[in-house]
Amino acid sequence: DDVADLTAFQSWIAETSAELDEHAGHLTELDRAIGDGDHGTNMARGFGRCAELAGEEQFPSIDAYLKKVGMTLVSTVGGASGPLYGTFFLRFAGPLAATDDAGVHALAQGLRAGVDGIVARGKAEVGDKTMYDTFAPALEAFDAAAVAGSPVAECLRACAEAADSGRDSTEPLVARKGRASYLGERSAGHLDPGASSAALLLRAAARTLA
Ligand code: ADP
Ligand code: MG
Ligand code: MG
Repeated sequence: DDVADLTAFQSWIAETSAELDEHAGHLTELDRAIGDGDHGTNMARGFGRCAELAGEEQFPSIDAYLKKVGMTLVSTVGGASGPLYGTFFLRFAGPLAATDDAGVHALAQGLRAGVDGIVARGKAEVGDKTMYDTFAPALEAFDAAAVAGSPVAECLRACAEAADSGRDSTEPLVARKGRASYLGERSAGHLDPGASSAALLLRAAARTLA
């Protein structure tokens, strides 16, 4: 189908949680190099809790579910990334309030609202070596594919590929936001952990939402 329903969104969260469980060690390793070594465990704990929600509660709508996911991330991930990922899902929910089947247009709006929320909260710019270096080009790629009339699956694939490139772009950068910025020049030469988890999240979206 060319729409994402509540079940698809629940699969997205479940898939993200499974991927985070698998890659928590790697994310924590990245965070050990330029942060405090907790990003993998923070994310796996938070998304693990979110993945349990679907089995505990009947959600009346996509937006109700995404809001619960956002609040759960805020209260369980912690650190800098918890409020940022939480805000992403809380804001993502907004444009989906009126729909049970999110098509290209609704997904583009949700994604944009979520990414705008990350910027409103964290004030990062492209090049600051944060998760926004993944989200910004990913959002652009989704929109470009959507404007070209591509179906959801193709928009999500373009989005995930741009996310991977965005993640990779953080390696040479000097961090200007978050804990890694305390290292100054020494933060260069390492992938940003949040940029890496964001790419994982968007890869999971491409596998589940279409
Ligand atoms: P903490 O640094 O508090 O231990 P985490 O390790 O969970 O939190 O998350 C670190 C990640 O958060 C960084 O790799 C970066 O991508 C992201 N981050 C930190 N500050 C910001 C910010 N102001 N805007 C966007 N992302 C940020
Ligand atoms: Mg950390
Ligand atoms: Mg920490």
